[in-house]
Amino acid sequence: RFVTFEGIDGSGKSTQARLLAEHLQGTGRDVVLTREPGGSDGAEEIRKLVLEGDADRWSAETELLLFTAARRDHLERLIEPALAAGKVVICDRFADSTRMYQGLSRGDLRRKVDALHDLMIGREPDLTILIDMDPGTGLERALSRGGSEERFESFGASLQAQMRQGFLDLAVEFSDRFVVIDGNRGIEAIAADVRAAVEPRLT
Ligand code: C5P
Repeated sequence: RFVTFEGIDGSGKSTQARLLAEHLQGTGRDVVLTREPGGSDGAEEIRKLVLEGDADRWSAETELLLFTAARRDHLERLIEPALAAGKVVICDRFADSTRMYQGLSRGDLRRKVDALHDLMIGREPDLTILIDMDPGTGLERALSRGGSEERFESFGASLQAQMRQGFLDLAVEFSDRFVVIDGNRGIEAIAADVRAAVEPRLT
């Protein structure tokens, strides 16, 4: 089973992905916790190239190609082998993030995102947990975390709000696999909802 977490920066999805992985491991399941951009050696190198460079180093189209290349490597080397071995793969961001960030915010590339996805990736998650979060709070959290990857966080509040709505729209578009969870609550309450959404789908 392939489970992904999506949401805006600062939504707490990485924490929830980790808590779910720990919980499932505790119940005896074989779990692989991974993330994008990155997740394999090659994809982590591409992550650095894109996220740590100057914001205008790559055009939106080139960035889309780089992230697609990273995803292909991640899929070939980590995700597909783990799924084939019967493991649960939990991934912090996947193709839906590209539909949002490269498809929506960095130019109107959604058609190209979808075409490349069909051509080179072709795998959708069995379940996607969207941690829905107030954009203002998300931005505050993301900014206070700082670090070397702030270029995307300089998008600002209006873009953060646009992203939030974009993710909610994706949840409607792919309603067969999306579950939306209110992220504006305590970590434990959110984690309990995540477990309740995932567990029935693992059997
Ligand atoms: O989820 P994480 O914090 O690791 O993401 C790192 C940054 O990369 C975020 O600021 C996110 O907005 C950006 N990103 C992106 N395109 C993607 C995935 C993530 O611009 N496809």
